[in-house]
Amino acid sequence: MTQVHCTRAQTAVLQLLRQQREPISAQALYTLIKQQQRIGLATVYRALDALKRMGRVQHRVTLTGETLYNAVEQDRHYMTCLDCGQSFPLNTCPLKGLASSLQHSSSFTIYYHTLEFFGLCEPCSVQGG
Ligand SMILES: [Zn+2]
Ligand SMILES: [Zn+2]
Repeated sequence: MTQVHCTRAQTAVLQLLRQQREPISAQALYTLIKQQQRIGLATVYRALDALKRMGRVQHRVTLTGETLYNAVEQDRHYMTCLDCGQSFPLNTCPLKGLASSLQHSSSFTIYYHTLEFFGLCEPCSVQGG
């Protein structure tokens, strides 16, 4: 990975994302980062975008269309209920082996991957009958 110098905003965004236990929205990130430094929402978005292209940050779009960001090293996958919209994290990454074998066998530089399962959670599947 090429070492690119991060701006102050990018460093702050990345640090905050690494501290989160769950992926968060740009808006929520902005609220947190504002407590540390004077920054505009547009700067937060620009920093997130730049970090994404550097392979440091990835995002996931929820069923309601909200974009959530997390640091790439926090590789998390979810089972999402189509009825109530709740997401349940998997405790492992089933793609780790595939990702590293792809990385070895092709010249494509892989930064991150996404995987999500959709269906019904237990309470919703009981209700729906
Ligand atoms: Zn549900
Ligand atoms: Zn994974």
